[in-house]
Amino acid sequence: MSFVQPELPYSLGALQPFLHEEQMQFHYGKHQAAYFTKLNVLLDGKPEAKSPLKEVIVGAAAGPIFNNAAQAWNHDFFWHCMSPTGGGDPKGDVLKAIDRDFGGYDKFKQTFSEKAANLFGSGWAWLAADKSGKLEIMALKDADTPLKHERTPILTLDVWEHAYYIDYRNLRPKFIEGFWSKVNWDFAAKNLDDSSK
Ligand code: MN
Repeated sequence: MSFVQPELPYSLGALQPFLHEEQMQFHYGKHQAAYFTKLNVLLDGKPEAKSPLKEVIVGAAAGPIFNNAAQAWNHDFFWHCMSPTGGGDPKGDVLKAIDRDFGGYDKFKQTFSEKAANLFGSGWAWLAADKSGKLEIMALKDADTPLKHERTPILTLDVWEHAYYIDYRNLRPKFIEGFWSKVNWDFAAKNLDDSSK
């Protein structure tokens, strides 16, 4: 096994009432786990098997290796975008950048939520920074990630149906609303800080 699924940064039930244990058990324990399993099969005996996961993602052409590598990484990033002690408003440099690039936190939250709700089919809503530190919201299909668009991921929300169907059934907007109650702004701040290095 070359790529090993990292541990969740909290217990399966830690994000309740936003996400219950069964939802997380399937998402972390079945969906994300399967991407790691498939990636290891696809890369068995190939030189990329020894590369860091991010390098595999950036270097891969469209296809199964990219899809499984990106989905493996995107989910790990996503788990860190939530915290049992999360929620509330961003502070410091993240808030400053959001004010500057979106005209305020409420406008940002509304636009991000709408783009996440309106993304047709499977994908991810991202907050990402370009090389100058400018923030943008990206609604990307399937496994696509800002890493493929020379952007640094700051925050993400998985809006594949498997991310919410056990807890929310077809009600994606309810799931998106709940995300803000557990959003991890400390993680976003660290990512924004790293993007300028
Ligand atoms: Mn997912």
